[in-house]
Amino acid sequence: MLRLHDTAKGEVVELTLRDTGKMSMYVCGLTVYDVPHIGHGRAALVYDVLRRYLEWSGLAVRHVSNITDIDDQIINRATEQGRSAEEVAQQYEAAWYDATDRLGVLRPTADPHATAYVDDMVSTVEQLVRGGHAYETSDGVYFAVESIDGYGLLAQQSLDDLRAGARVEVTKEKRSPLDFALWKKAKPGEPEWPSPWGPGRPGWHTECVVMSLDLLGDGFDLHTGGLDLQFPHHENERAQAVALGRTFARHWMHHAFVEVGGEKMSKSLKNFTSLPDLLSRHDARAYRLLVLRSHYRSPMEVTPDTIADAEGQLERFDSFARRHPAPPPGTPLDDDLVARFRAFMDDDLDTPPALGLLFEELRRANVARDTGVIATVHALAGALGLWPRGADQIDAETARDMAERDAARAARDWARADEIRARLQARGWVVEDGADGTTVHR
Ligand SMILES: [Zn+2]
Repeated sequence: MLRLHDTAKGEVVELTLRDTGKMSMYVCGLTVYDVPHIGHGRAALVYDVLRRYLEWSGLAVRHVSNITDIDDQIINRATEQGRSAEEVAQQYEAAWYDATDRLGVLRPTADPHATAYVDDMVSTVEQLVRGGHAYETSDGVYFAVESIDGYGLLAQQSLDDLRAGARVEVTKEKRSPLDFALWKKAKPGEPEWPSPWGPGRPGWHTECVVMSLDLLGDGFDLHTGGLDLQFPHHENERAQAVALGRTFARHWMHHAFVEVGGEKMSKSLKNFTSLPDLLSRHDARAYRLLVLRSHYRSPMEVTPDTIADAEGQLERFDSFARRHPAPPPGTPLDDDLVARFRAFMDDDLDTPPALGLLFEELRRANVARDTGVIATVHALAGALGLWPRGADQIDAETARDMAERDAARAARDWARADEIRARLQARGWVVEDGADGTTVHR
């Protein structure tokens, strides 16, 4: 079973699941006010690799990732540009999914939007106020961090240390500088929703706790995000769950940042900071390879050299796949190789040596032409979300449709076969009938 570094425990522990065979994961999503940067791309890829690996291992993964479509930054951007917050959010959400689709990142099972959850968030804030965990001020409603035990668990700091390090604020109304807004009263012209405290909008920390518990239920398996979310965002989500008497995430996982090297480097890297820009210049798979080449808890260096190097590695992978296409599904894999790959992946998702192993075996397969090794290299690459150029990734639904269509044709049920063809075409596949049955490509 997979072992992951758990931020709440400060050590690598076995991932124990709430429900056997099922993994529920909440990935803190994007605030959609600008084009995504390469750090967002890393986040999407780290959890895509985790999900794919677990699915490949036979688990059913429920992956929820929110879209924060109401926030101060969105409102500021809308004001600057003289348009509505809704328009800004829609534009950048589309840019986000466009980029993650190009990266081959599986879409979340559910992507709750904050604006669709305002009523639930208002009820949650009311409950916290009633329970004595929150109080109203002139500009909103705040959570009293000292009203619960154990604030500081994720920060791995005591309440006293956190208080000493907190920024002293101008407002005298907050009981502790660490108290955070659950509800923000609207200023004139800002988007607003009704509440018992007057028109306003919910705070970001309330959004994620409400949506994760609603969609994944109490005691869901894994809550994830970047290191910058560990404190205060995740600490504050957890604090609300504690105050509500709910059981929150069983495990916490945080990934490190993308770093830009020395001064000279950063100048040229200016081009690399926007994710769509990077993807317009390079094979999206090269970025996935770069992410895999760093352990998720280590900073990752993106430079023109590292990107070029990853592209060179991709070329080796593609040329291998041209010489040795994936054998038909069902071809027995090399068990020893699979076991060695799993040992790396199960050790806190240690992708660099797992990838190293894959490329070592690719060299071996080129020489030995062993069908088992060839099939295994293709399978392991797929478990990491990596496919050779030209090989369209066939999802489970498509594979099912193809099999069903072959069965219909074998039974000479042409109407049914045509119906399935139309369904595949509607999802963007070009459908062909070959000697081996239905084949599809983009
Ligand atoms: Zn969040």
